[in-house]
Amino acid sequence: MPFLPLTPDSGRRQSNAPRQYSVLADFLAGPVDCVSGIGPQASNRLATAGIRSVADLLMEFPLRYQDRTHRVAIANCPIGDDVQIDVRVIGHKLIYGRKRMLQIQVFDESGELSLRYFHFFQSQLALFTAGNRLLCFGRIRAGRGNKGLEMVHPTVQKLADQAQPVLPDHLSPVYSQREGLPAALPKWIRAALKLAGEYEDQEYLPPQILRDHGFPSFLTAVNVIHYPSANDADALLNQCHPAQRRLAFEEILAHQWLVRQNRQQCADHAAPVLACKTGLREQFSRALPFTLTPAQQQVMNVIGAELGQNAPMMRLVQGDVGCGKTMVAAFAMLQCATAGKQAALMAPTEILAEQHFRHLKPLFEKLGFALCILTGKSRDKAATRAALAGGQIPLCVGTHALFQSSVRFADLALIIVDEQQRFGVQQRLALLDKGRSGDMLPHQLIMSATPIPRSLAMALYADLDHCIIDSLPPGRQPVQTVALPEQRRDEVIARVGAALKNEHQVYWVCPHIEQSDEQAVQAVEHTVKRLQQSLHGISLASIHGRMPSRDKERIMNQFAAGKYAVLVATTVIEVGVDVPGATLMIIENAERLGLSQLHQLRGRIGRGDKPGVCVLLYQPPLNEVAVQRIDAMRRHHDGFTIAEKDLQLRGPGELLGQRQTGAMPLRIADLARHTDLLQQAVTVVGGDLNTLELSDLCRRWLDGHNPDATGGYLHA
Ligand code: ADP
Ligand code: MG
Repeated sequence: MPFLPLTPDSGRRQSNAPRQYSVLADFLAGPVDCVSGIGPQASNRLATAGIRSVADLLMEFPLRYQDRTHRVAIANCPIGDDVQIDVRVIGHKLIYGRKRMLQIQVFDESGELSLRYFHFFQSQLALFTAGNRLLCFGRIRAGRGNKGLEMVHPTVQKLADQAQPVLPDHLSPVYSQREGLPAALPKWIRAALKLAGEYEDQEYLPPQILRDHGFPSFLTAVNVIHYPSANDADALLNQCHPAQRRLAFEEILAHQWLVRQNRQQCADHAAPVLACKTGLREQFSRALPFTLTPAQQQVMNVIGAELGQNAPMMRLVQGDVGCGKTMVAAFAMLQCATAGKQAALMAPTEILAEQHFRHLKPLFEKLGFALCILTGKSRDKAATRAALAGGQIPLCVGTHALFQSSVRFADLALIIVDEQQRFGVQQRLALLDKGRSGDMLPHQLIMSATPIPRSLAMALYADLDHCIIDSLPPGRQPVQTVALPEQRRDEVIARVGAALKNEHQVYWVCPHIEQSDEQAVQAVEHTVKRLQQSLHGISLASIHGRMPSRDKERIMNQFAAGKYAVLVATTVIEVGVDVPGATLMIIENAERLGLSQLHQLRGRIGRGDKPGVCVLLYQPPLNEVAVQRIDAMRRHHDGFTIAEKDLQLRGPGELLGQRQTGAMPLRIADLARHTDLLQQAVTVVGGDLNTLELSDLCRRWLDGHNPDATGGYLHA
């Protein structure tokens, strides 16, 4: 399928191309400061949150929506729903208990209800004067002691007595509150959409594709996703709305194109030959405290042979959490260093990079090679960079800091990407560029847990050869998984107490549900208090994304060293963290997490020889999908099976929060629901492509995923 006259570049070069097309593309690619309200300071802040171009801004999609288009009578308010009510204040009172709170009694013609605030300012009290008319929006829940209904922390707006409130005619978007995103973001997105109106009739995908799939134009799609009508809600929740499908298609197309481009480029290049010296494997094995599993050895054989070729290795190693991928990586690094070249291992978080450094440094020292670490926050960065550039240090672990432009390698021959599902393909390519010299490219080893089924992985990572570490080290016992409703928290705390008596370590995970740091921190603090009250003298630490990395690292290291019995954490611990003494994990709000994420979290325990128990605490009532999902967690322990289930059981309402589940760094495409689009994208990219056109498209979809800048979905 020819894509010809559609790129801004080709548009400029080919006189018959529609000129105005390039205007939309240029507008989208342009800096955000063309939007009114975004000055230099705001655009700097946005840039640190990964939003640089207008396209980035427009593609900061809502996590979910609120329906403020109508009012609901109190008598008709369903428990658990977010609703809008139009009420009058009866009165308010301050209640001093374990925590100070504000309770306001309100009514409408159908009934009464309480509003409850735990955080409020004195100045807000005037709003709740008896007789005031308020428009409140919030979630309905059963009142204390099951008396009546209440709303906790609703947003309220004072209405004039007789006024007819102006209600929006579309759903209200709720955006991510991830760190660094300015509060004015929704306003700016709105302004950008308005500006974009000028290009309304423009389009850059080939018209044939739009027709074939019934896709709306880019701007129509983006508008619908930010401001859908109430009628769009169901389709959006099920992710089958044409607006989503169109953008998902673009995204998958961009991804496919990049991946194919990579394969082609690599095929045109040679790679340094890293011969495996005789006896190297034995030497490596002797340096380890355990025997490598047959599955590890098999994969090491494959990699060992490929590194010895003069063509770049492009290998994806998939293996369940805990199968021992790190050792496979370590061996590849050793083989590289023995051949006199440099190798770099990139991990998605600082905690993980630190952990690799801690484990691998003594191992490599034993083997006679130096290992350094390079993360955004590591000390002696300049010295480390100099040593890498000068070739004095052969081996390096790090975060995405590794592919910043200031980092150079003297002779990088192998790049390893750990937990690749956390990186976009373009980050992998950026690191690849570090090792490019003349016709030579470094070898690539990509390691991934199993967040997506293999069939999808093959299509998505068509540029890579695949292999699997298909068994766990001996002696591992499957983690027993139990699900308990929130109301049985006290029992769970007692269980924690019992584990501590046996000198086991415990993780208590408070996932952040709304990508709001604030709430996550609150949840962590709340749990810490509660545990301290119930279990006297408990040695406990907490970590969350708001803490400076240095503190996170320190606490994580101390926990690993056994200094604390309990670690209360947000999902920062999710990826790859290894503390063999931890046997019990409690995961709050488990019903709101994806299966793959739960599996990854659960993989943190039962890593030593003691059996592990994972308690999934949930908020009843559970919907059908949540029941099945929790059931799947109880029954399955294999990552591939869970990945399949995860895709099958993706419940409605989880679409836009999907980025959090860590399954794939895709913004809008959901591989469960858009499998057909993946197939079609493969076909389109396999056809006759105009390179420039898609590279432009790719940049739009993939640039904003620079975790270097955002911390975005990597951030917990
Ligand atoms: P993952 O595949 O999830 O990255 P790791 O490489 O972190 O797993 O390994 C998990 C744990 O298993 C680590 O503590 C590691 O030292 C240990 N391990 C790795 N290989 C073996 C083995 N062959 N026998 C016993 N323990 C092993
Ligand atoms: Mg790992």
